[in-house]
Amino acid sequence: MSLVAGVDSGGTKVLAALVDEEGRIVDRVEHPTDPRAGTASILRALGELFEKESPAAIGVGVAAWVGWPSGRVVFAPNLFYDDPEVKEAIRRRFGLPVSVENDANAAAWGECRFGAGVGVSEMLMVTVGTGIGGGIVSGGKLYRGRNGYAGEFGHMTLIEGGPRCACGERGCFEAMASGAAIGRMAREGLHAAGSTAVRELSGGDSERVTGALVAEAAEGGDAYARLILRRAGHWLGIGLTNLVNIFDPEVIVIGGGGASSGGLLLDPAREELARRLEGRREPPRVAEAALGNDAGVIGAADLARLAV
Ligand SMILES: [Zn+2]
Repeated sequence: MSLVAGVDSGGTKVLAALVDEEGRIVDRVEHPTDPRAGTASILRALGELFEKESPAAIGVGVAAWVGWPSGRVVFAPNLFYDDPEVKEAIRRRFGLPVSVENDANAAAWGECRFGAGVGVSEMLMVTVGTGIGGGIVSGGKLYRGRNGYAGEFGHMTLIEGGPRCACGERGCFEAMASGAAIGRMAREGLHAAGSTAVRELSGGDSERVTGALVAEAAEGGDAYARLILRRAGHWLGIGLTNLVNIFDPEVIVIGGGGASSGGLLLDPAREELARRLEGRREPPRVAEAALGNDAGVIGAADLARLAV
């Protein structure tokens, strides 16, 4: 088989690409997502991609709770899907075999096949972006659970009654260690923080203090930003400890914007993980994702290839 199309439909952008058997992207189309028309955004990107070449199958990763194998979006906190029957809508439009997954599941598979998890059969992926997503590879296969909803690590509760999460609950892992959580922590402490690049970069507008802005300040050496990343990394380590106790993985791959903060976020997480597992077991390797923002699209394409 030649080329397969992969799609990564996130809260802010949709990426569609033609991917070969080795996980290499040979052509790509990227657009901002229409927040009120997630499915139409996917169809538009694919239509544009197929103007030059038609693939053998289409694999899609969406940032949502998505049923398997139905490909139906049941809950999407950041994006409205104008047609929740995403799989059926794509199949009807293009007449090709289609598979639709959660985006972090697709990214986990991409990293396992072609990235930081090559050769590993027990792997977890934790994507630390605005939110926290997850994917499970067990026995060398993607683990989807009963309905396709497995791996929603971001919504395990760490603190009952804690900070509000995007899902509506409180104290989720995502509310303590995501990009959004880093932004919240930085805003909360900003008043008392003294001189910091976080204030300078935001122009004094606390609404502009995001996880990405804090990461930028931290990379520039700002002490306050580094303190915030260390605090988030501590919570990340607590969440990872829970996952290690449940899944006993060989490798945990960290993706999303959190991976690009490198050791500033991940080293405190590794320290917390090692501290909590001390005397019981060796901690698994915590590796940065190797495929960057392309993991989802590459994984989605490969899953579609395997399904054909
Ligand atoms: Zn939540």
